[in-house]
Amino acid sequence: MSSSPRVAIIGAGIVGCSLADELVMRGWSDVVVIEQGRLFAAGGSTSHAPGLVFQTNGSRTMAEFARYTVQKAMSLTLDGQWCFNQVGSLEFAVTEDRLRELHRRRGFGEACGIDGRVIDPDETAALWPLVDRDAIVGAYHVPSDGLTKAVRVSEAQARRAMEGGARFLGEHTVTGIRTDDGRIRAVSTDHGEIEADIVVCAAGIWGPRIGAMVGMTVPLQPLAHQYAKTTVLPEVVRLAIPPDREDIHPIIRVQDRDLYLREHTDRLGVGAYGHTPMPIDPASLLHPTDAPVMPSVLAFTPDTFAESWGWSQAVVPALRGAEVRLEDGINGVFSFTPDGAPLLGESRDIAGFWLAEAVWVTHGLGVGKAMAEWLVDGGSPTDLHECDVNRFEPHQLAPAYIRERGIQSFVEVYDILHPLQPMEDPRPLRTSPFHAREAELGAVFLEGSGWERPHWYGANASLLDRYEVPTRDAWSGRYWDPIAGAEALAAREGVAIFDMTSLKRLEVSGRGALAFLDGLTTNRLDRPVGTVVYTLLLDERGGIRSDLTIARLAPDRFQVGANGNLDLDWLERHLRDDGSVRVRDITAGTCCIGLWGPFARDLLEGVTDEDISGPAFGYFKARELWVGNVPVTALRLSYVGELGWELYTTADLGTKLWDTLWAAGRPYGLIAAGRSAFGSLRLEKGYRSWGTDMTTEHDPYEAGLGFAVRMDKGPFLGRDALEGRSEATASRRLVCLMLDDRDVVLMGKEPVRRSGEAVGYVTSAAYGFSVDASIAYAWVPADAAAVGTHLSVGWFDRDLPATVTREPLFDPDMARLRS
Ligand SMILES: Cc1cc2nc3c(=O)[nH]c(=O)nc-3n(C[C@H](O)[C@H](O)[C@H](O)COP(=O)(O)OP(=O)(O)OC[C@H]3O[C@@H](n4cnc5c(N)ncnc54)[C@H](O)[C@@H]3O)c2cc1C
Repeated sequence: MSSSPRVAIIGAGIVGCSLADELVMRGWSDVVVIEQGRLFAAGGSTSHAPGLVFQTNGSRTMAEFARYTVQKAMSLTLDGQWCFNQVGSLEFAVTEDRLRELHRRRGFGEACGIDGRVIDPDETAALWPLVDRDAIVGAYHVPSDGLTKAVRVSEAQARRAMEGGARFLGEHTVTGIRTDDGRIRAVSTDHGEIEADIVVCAAGIWGPRIGAMVGMTVPLQPLAHQYAKTTVLPEVVRLAIPPDREDIHPIIRVQDRDLYLREHTDRLGVGAYGHTPMPIDPASLLHPTDAPVMPSVLAFTPDTFAESWGWSQAVVPALRGAEVRLEDGINGVFSFTPDGAPLLGESRDIAGFWLAEAVWVTHGLGVGKAMAEWLVDGGSPTDLHECDVNRFEPHQLAPAYIRERGIQSFVEVYDILHPLQPMEDPRPLRTSPFHAREAELGAVFLEGSGWERPHWYGANASLLDRYEVPTRDAWSGRYWDPIAGAEALAAREGVAIFDMTSLKRLEVSGRGALAFLDGLTTNRLDRPVGTVVYTLLLDERGGIRSDLTIARLAPDRFQVGANGNLDLDWLERHLRDDGSVRVRDITAGTCCIGLWGPFARDLLEGVTDEDISGPAFGYFKARELWVGNVPVTALRLSYVGELGWELYTTADLGTKLWDTLWAAGRPYGLIAAGRSAFGSLRLEKGYRSWGTDMTTEHDPYEAGLGFAVRMDKGPFLGRDALEGRSEATASRRLVCLMLDDRDVVLMGKEPVRRSGEAVGYVTSAAYGFSVDASIAYAWVPADAAAVGTHLSVGWFDRDLPATVTREPLFDPDMARLRS
């Protein structure tokens, strides 16, 4: 008798099959995979995917998934037939902009251990003889990429899972999910009920329909995408490709033209994203028995393919006399999400209901592994926060948002996206109470989590007469203005207000609040009312789930400065049922101004009767006080490293708070400063940003946050995993780098090299205007972390020298903060 829970996986596409295999590998054999179609070309997206696997990705997590897909698929065969054909890949550049982008992508790959090279048109033509070498300016070549046979690799994994005890039920349609008391109990099918403790929805484009069975919104938009094969091409026949190989040359992407291509023995296949988006209502998807071909295959529309076909002919001369074989063309449907990332994890409301949705073939095997780790071990060594289905804010679950953003993800699939590029629509969504004032000051808004966030203010242009701000290269100068540098310098010299409303705020209260928070975090929270504590949430492995700033406002009431919805989710999951603790997201109903700079106290003293002198209101202390007519919760801390306060009030009084401070600030030259200045000031002080600088993949000692861990305080989640670890045992470190070159400001994710070989990657970067240096934080091996170590950073096609520097660069004695 197996002691593993009863797992029902809905869907035998590549995700369901991979997950079953990985679960069985880990000893969970009570697994049933329920599939409405006939196994294994069951009618979902996997059944007709041409299987191109390009591993390089700006997301380390996605690159890791893809790397695992390649590694595992290479090890599999089905009845002696290959599952992965490692022919390599070529991404063509038709434009110079794309060629630069390919260098950047090569850097992403290098930082993730994926080897590739940017090559010239002649070398490209040698690798793929069908290209018109005059139509391109270069290419990015990754030898380890290639083709997977999506159905074959699914079946190979399924067979292995079945050998280990898993059952696959083809032609069984899930019609409902029975829950009881917020828990999964069983799956109903057209052949009867199957009891289960865990249900994993791996139903691809049907995901929203399965989610609805338990009342869960699955933010996924199916869209049709065109793929067609040509008629037989003499030029391809001459390549003498063995039929069982199908393809012997690299797979191709032409992102400038929204195209990809591969060989099919004697012809080519062409995939296109250039056509008008074709969103499909999940409710309209047919059952396999009712679909003319397959439910995920819609009739090919040659007219919408015509432009892409013309573009293909421009790059591949062999296509000029050829035709599309209409009967081989499809409008195939697959999933897109608001931010392009998959949807993984457990429902907040129904225990045991999990999703593994919106996953490409490329990432399918990696996702299977990560999901199995999550289910069996409670978490994965791979950072999954970008994919966690609970990451979305409420507005992101609106049907209109899911549709609009899903379409946009389709449109942008091959676009060159700047890291700071905000979404265009729908905007504005969330505005702080200061928005009108900010707009009056000429704020340039970018968007984050739906919030309109000022990055700099046009009204501060005159500061450039006072401060000299270095220029920067074209890429790092996008979504930036020298005014931001002047704002940073002015904040260090005078005083500035920063709109911090978009930071997530939670209230944790009740008689059990202290014990609850203390048991989940690393620092000691049992301190007097009015104390603020910086602390960490860890997972069972000791990885950093988040960093929090917790203010004790009353014996049983805490205000928690958090990083996002996943923190709320984590806290809620750990709540007991006894009602002794309440967790409330207070972000939307409140607002926050950071009032920071050497004159912050002088200014605030003018608008409050309270004694806010250093001795009366010390560093990392919290008080409730009045600012003019406005009741405010004031926390004396600063992420920019200056004297000052975070001032919180309710949203209705936000404008009044702004106006009160603004009027009082005139004599001190108060300015409003934006997030661009904030980012620079933060990095000069070495303050880490969770999700970018550190994630669950890192422990506190590696991340330089050991000071926030009190091993002697008693038990807390993750403590056992930290036993025996320290700064001294860390095998890698988050370090501060200073670039020799001051014209470049890195953007994050660039490879860090030692003697030309990649050893790490950049997390955050900024120009430090007060220290006059281009700064980057980066993960490097411990033996490359000593101050003074010479390294370099890949920046497009350049290799920029950089030196490990003592941190923090600014005010290491904390004299300003404590003043
Ligand atoms: C034209 C086209 C080309 C593509 N090319 C590539 C490519 O080159 N590279 C790449 O990486 N990706 C590609 N993709 C994307 C890729 O195919 C999909 O993202 C991937 O196959 C999704 O796998 P899945 O297992 O999540 O979903 P699916 O393969 O759709 O599997 C879900 C299964 O769930 C079953 N199911 C649904 N509802 C129920 C129910 N109620 N009861 C029982 N069973 C149910 C379905 O029948 C289906 O078999 C392409 C997609 C298309 C359409």
